[in-house]
Amino acid sequence: MTQEDAPAHAPIRAHNPLPAQDLRIGHGYDLHRLEPAPPAGKGRPLIVGGIRLEFDRGPVAHSDGDVLLHAVTDALLGAIAGPDIGQLFPDTDPAHAGEDSSRYVAEALRLVHEAGYAPVSLDATVVLERPRLGPSKQAVRENLARLLAMPVDRVNVKGKTHEGVDAVGEGRAIEAHCVVLLARASGA
Ligand code: MG
Repeated sequence: MTQEDAPAHAPIRAHNPLPAQDLRIGHGYDLHRLEPAPPAGKGRPLIVGGIRLEFDRGPVAHSDGDVLLHAVTDALLGAIAGPDIGQLFPDTDPAHAGEDSSRYVAEALRLVHEAGYAPVSLDATVVLERPRLGPSKQAVRENLARLLAMPVDRVNVKGKTHEGVDAVGEGRAIEAHCVVLLARASGA
């Protein structure tokens, strides 16, 4: 049958010739309000992906407010259909006040390993109007790769503005999106 004769709904292949792989994908999203530093506001120092960015505003948060590490944590947990970050680390628990969010990533990674998987690819986007993420992007990538025990070339971070509109564009909030791919760990 030529391509012209094939019905429009015909599948390109009858079956997938690739060997079945045990993959999981997870998505994470987070947003924090930004406020001036004390005493004018309640903003904490601005930390993104474990890297401190110099800015006169910072996130309002129970923990250190690292919006990217929170999105990464939820992506890892989502990929194994686990509890979300708020269930694991309630923001009502005084034990987590001001906490370094890399601990959340470490616990999510431990659960991923316990489920028999390991992260093989991560892509994230941080949306903030100011400051620019560009100068810190490589440091953020390298820190994420270190936290997740992944090669840097499998970790990507992008920075975008919100074009001056809505809360993020007006500098009143910062948000992050993350997708992570897990593969069954060898020997698991
Ligand atoms: Mg958060």
